Amino acid sequence: MTTTAQPSTQDNSTVAPTHYQMFIDGKWVDSDDKYNLTEPATEEVFATAAKGGTQHAEAAVQAAKRTFEAGVWRDISPKGRAEILDRAADALEARADELTILGTREGGAPHYLSHAFSVGMPVSNTRYFADVLRRQDFERPGPLVGPVLSGGLVRREPIGVCVAIVPWNFPLALAVWKVMPALAAGNSVVLKTDEKTPIGALQLAKELQAAGVPDGVFNVVTGDGEDVGAHLAAHPDVRKVSFTGSTAIGKEIVHAGAGNLKKVTLELGGKGANIILDDADLRTAVDGSIWAFLMHAGQACESGTRLLVPSSLHDEFVNRMIDRLQTQKIGDPLEPDTHIGPLISAAQRDRVLGYIESAKNEGATVAYGGGVPAGEQFRRGFWVEPTILTNVTNDMTVAREEVFGPVLAVIRYDSIEEAVKIANDTEYGLSAGVWSQDLNQALSVARQLEAGSVWINDWHMGNQEYPFGGYKQSGIGRELSSHALDEYTEQKSIQICLEPKLENRAYGLVLPAPTSD
Ligand code: NAD
Repeated sequence: MTTTAQPSTQDNSTVAPTHYQMFIDGKWVDSDDKYNLTEPATEEVFATAAKGGTQHAEAAVQAAKRTFEAGVWRDISPKGRAEILDRAADALEARADELTILGTREGGAPHYLSHAFSVGMPVSNTRYFADVLRRQDFERPGPLVGPVLSGGLVRREPIGVCVAIVPWNFPLALAVWKVMPALAAGNSVVLKTDEKTPIGALQLAKELQAAGVPDGVFNVVTGDGEDVGAHLAAHPDVRKVSFTGSTAIGKEIVHAGAGNLKKVTLELGGKGANIILDDADLRTAVDGSIWAFLMHAGQACESGTRLLVPSSLHDEFVNRMIDRLQTQKIGDPLEPDTHIGPLISAAQRDRVLGYIESAKNEGATVAYGGGVPAGEQFRRGFWVEPTILTNVTNDMTVAREEVFGPVLAVIRYDSIEEAVKIANDTEYGLSAGVWSQDLNQALSVARQLEAGSVWINDWHMGNQEYPFGGYKQSGIGRELSSHALDEYTEQKSIQICLEPKLENRAYGLVLPAPTSD
């Protein structure tokens, strides 16, 4: 393991691509092995990153443990910690253009989305968590209780070493949802990035250090999931794992953490049902439904991937969607007017194309798209056309499994009861939506949906004041909202007996009667 004081970055115009190191115990740490970071739109290797091993994970956990036990961070006042988080937010915001472009290059998100997810949300969410921290009751008086009068305190205390494991689709935003409430609460943190998208998290480390987070309190390890991620998830010194990723790996995290009964927050997959009621405003619902399934080429866990349309509206709705899809620009994600970019990798492209094939084999019809877009610019990179599948039934593979690509499964229904039944007939429960001009009707449907986020006449609306997370196999716990810090604290009750006389106690049940003195 080699360490240096600064990341060994070089200008991108020189021959060697920029190299990114890990951040452990306040130092930039390299490894013998490295990842090639590939632009999804061009397949060009634009940077490299250290490929960490379990020894790096171990060093990061020990740094986090040491700093937690020493109290170098949790003993700073909430006001002081909040000021440091705010300073980091300001520093990220000052680098908006650079972070947006890096986000697009490493993850393929179109420029407008990368700006939102690499800068807008991380900055706003960090400031929000700093505000929540300022308002947090870390210690409050408990109620007076009898029959032997007692009072006391209820405290919230940091948990200890917290591990955050994030995927590649919104790497910095999802890291901030974990790291900031964990730090706000006074914990020490080890963040493991996805192999393909480490850059944003490493910039976060740089800015947190510059803002005043003591060395060792926040660490970033880049490494493979099956060794570095698994090592962290099973580590006996780690008391909490917060994970965003697939449901399959989420289950492995739970198993790995069982040894020391780690606390877990899991944000997993989804199969969002998007219900069009027959009185929906069609212009809005058509555009909204495209936004619901196509944002970031469908690589969002909360996407609306099952469109439930009344049979009476089906053909008109699908035709309107096809008309509108033709106006969407697919191509170079660095151009500000591009709507749809590439998928993250060749493996993801092939997986998505496989789901389209399986849908055809099971009886679905490709009403739009269905393959790799034609044209010279799509010869390189990982592209799939926006795809609408009709004649889908809810038992088909494409309606049951998470595709994580630009693919919409359209399912007909004939009554609202049937629509609700189809919507809830899934092992997932992350998101759902209802489109209607009758808010009472829409609310009635929303209340019946088994999903952690339900939008009425909108989708993907991510308000930090609202909790985010899943029912059923979409996860455990919630992120965001004023309760976010609760997920990173233990509650302690301290009870004080206020009755001085021994005679008033119940000890006599097990002890001999007290002697008088
Ligand atoms: P993934 O589960 O394969 O990987 C996610 C992260 O886990 C990566 O950092 C990976 O290195 C790590 N990992 C892999 N194996 C591991 C192991 N055995 N132990 C510990 N860590 C391990 O997910 P993905 O394919 O990269 O991301 C897409 C998935 O993430 C989709 O299912 C999507 O729905 C989900 N997701 C959920 C949310 C949400 O908030 N609910 C948000 C975004 C993505």
